[in-house]
Amino acid sequence: MNRRYAPALLACLFAVSCAREQPAVDPQLAAEIAGIQAIDNHAHVVLAAPGDREFDALPVDHMEPSTDPVALREDSPAAKAATQALFGGSSKAEMQRQKGDAYPAWVLAQAGIASALANRVAMGKSVEPPQFRWVPYADALIFPLDNTEPGKASPDRAAFFALEDKLRARYLNGAPLPATLAEYMAKVVTPVLERHRQGGAVAEKFEAAYLRDLWFEPTHQSQADLAYRKYRESKSVPDGVDYRILQNTLFHYIAAECGRLGMAVHIHTMAGAGGYFDIAGAHPTHLEPLLDDPNLRKTNFVMVHGGWPYVHEAGALLAKPNAYLDISSQTLLLAPATVAVWLREWLALAPEKVLFATDAYPYSNTLGWEESMWIAARNGREALGRALTAMMRDGEITHQRAVELARMVLRENAKKLYGM
Ligand SMILES: [Zn+2]
Repeated sequence: MNRRYAPALLACLFAVSCAREQPAVDPQLAAEIAGIQAIDNHAHVVLAAPGDREFDALPVDHMEPSTDPVALREDSPAAKAATQALFGGSSKAEMQRQKGDAYPAWVLAQAGIASALANRVAMGKSVEPPQFRWVPYADALIFPLDNTEPGKASPDRAAFFALEDKLRARYLNGAPLPATLAEYMAKVVTPVLERHRQGGAVAEKFEAAYLRDLWFEPTHQSQADLAYRKYRESKSVPDGVDYRILQNTLFHYIAAECGRLGMAVHIHTMAGAGGYFDIAGAHPTHLEPLLDDPNLRKTNFVMVHGGWPYVHEAGALLAKPNAYLDISSQTLLLAPATVAVWLREWLALAPEKVLFATDAYPYSNTLGWEESMWIAARNGREALGRALTAMMRDGEITHQRAVELARMVLRENAKKLYGM
């Protein structure tokens, strides 16, 4: 070794050992983050009463086997930790009995969450405003024709389209499909959206990525109307290109109506559940025609699950004035240190458009919506703490700004977006 370098090397080693001793999250900041009562932008809250199946329009238990992420497997250590933290001296059944209708609110409190957007087909006793805000589903409205053909894409899609057909029948409430597209929009689509809004909905959710790709390119309504009339009258299986034009037109119409009614549009933007999910089709940049449509600039779009694995592209889309994203699901499936990397990137770009969320969901007996909410909330806070601590250490932000950013992500951004 050249002796001249020895002091530099020593200094370097010292720096490394100092860095090692620094905690990943600044302790004071961690305490401040823990004290902020969060708003969960996306959760499938389950009613206190047993047998509830309305926590999702497309429950994922209908799917063919696939390779589950470690976090969702029966023996997940995180699930065990969550069960212990939530029900330690007792049991889930005992706690449900003890709390009764207050059980869902009790689960939120354990995760440091003040209120949650409940992504559900319908709300119900024990999951009600103002603590729970409704986010119903709109996909069924954009597939009004015979769905045999798109269902053939995979066994999972066949099951999903059958579920969407059922939900659309519920939305139609026994009425036949109106004769023209304009009538369908005016007599079915708009009244459903208005009923949702009157029922307290703050956003409409699209799980479209489970049914097709997210490339909703602009179309001409006259073309869509031709397709609608043709296949409605003949009750025949629609041609794929024709049907796509109709779906795109309806999606744009619903998005515009959401803007008019003061609701955001939530779109599943992430690789999804199941071994047939079209990961490339869910690429967030496919949403660009929607975000760039001047007629839709009054509609706010939320990329639910933050676009993973295309997290950088999702971050770039935050430049659109009406684009937002949340960290749901990522914080359940991935380690906080992993999520913190792109969370930091997003916070440097547009911190007022990043939302805390869990994607709490009844995955299994051992990983219920309670455990998944608790894990995702814990991981989400740690990821946020890690990202902000790194930004402070690199001199990008002050401690005061870090606390401000934490408050924004955990609650203030959602309050502003939904006018809560
Ligand atoms: Zn979800």
